[in-house]
Amino acid sequence: MSDVRLCPICDTDLTYSYDAEFAENYPGLVCRNCDEKAVNTEGQTPKEHPDDDGENPIFIDSQQCWRRHRFGGHVTMVDPDNCGSLQEFYDRQSHRT
Ligand SMILES: [Zn+2]
Repeated sequence: MSDVRLCPICDTDLTYSYDAEFAENYPGLVCRNCDEKAVNTEGQTPKEHPDDDGENPIFIDSQQCWRRHRFGGHVTMVDPDNCGSLQEFYDRQSHRT
């Protein structure tokens, strides 16, 4: 039994975008649809930086998110605590479980 994981922004079933096991590993993971709406702090499409984590934080519907680049793509996670850095976000998420 695994819970259905929903996109925290639009409530779409995340398994339409990612496989369930993958989604398990990322707290606050957003679906690909919402991911495409992401903007940087200047309101523009975030630039991709394949060698590092790119522009962070980013925003989807004014909600702060953090983006990790990996496997030639990226994942975007909602930050409900408005953390000051990606590391702080991770620390909070790992204490939550
Ligand atoms: Zn979504």
